[in-house]
Amino acid sequence: MLFIIFVIFAPIAVWLILHLMSRQKNGEDTDASKEPIELCAICQEEFPMSQLLEKEVGGYGRVYCFCGQCIENLYHEYQNTTDIKTGE
Ligand SMILES: [Zn+2]
Repeated sequence: MLFIIFVIFAPIAVWLILHLMSRQKNGEDTDASKEPIELCAICQEEFPMSQLLEKEVGGYGRVYCFCGQCIENLYHEYQNTTDIKTGE
């Protein structure tokens, strides 16, 4: 009788432990995957992926990430160069 109880409850206990462990692991995974950190290719500062723009640069399929501040700086730089050219 004791053997039958053990056979029935042992898998349930193991399943419960595994279930709790996987739930903890999943919680950590979702927290970590929610905001993956990447480097901006220009200023080399770390940003969460949601604040970066991913662009394939060149013919090698290399993907670079750019932060909003650098994109804004590039935009202003471009605006300044075109303003000077059109102003002349
Ligand atoms: Zn940047």
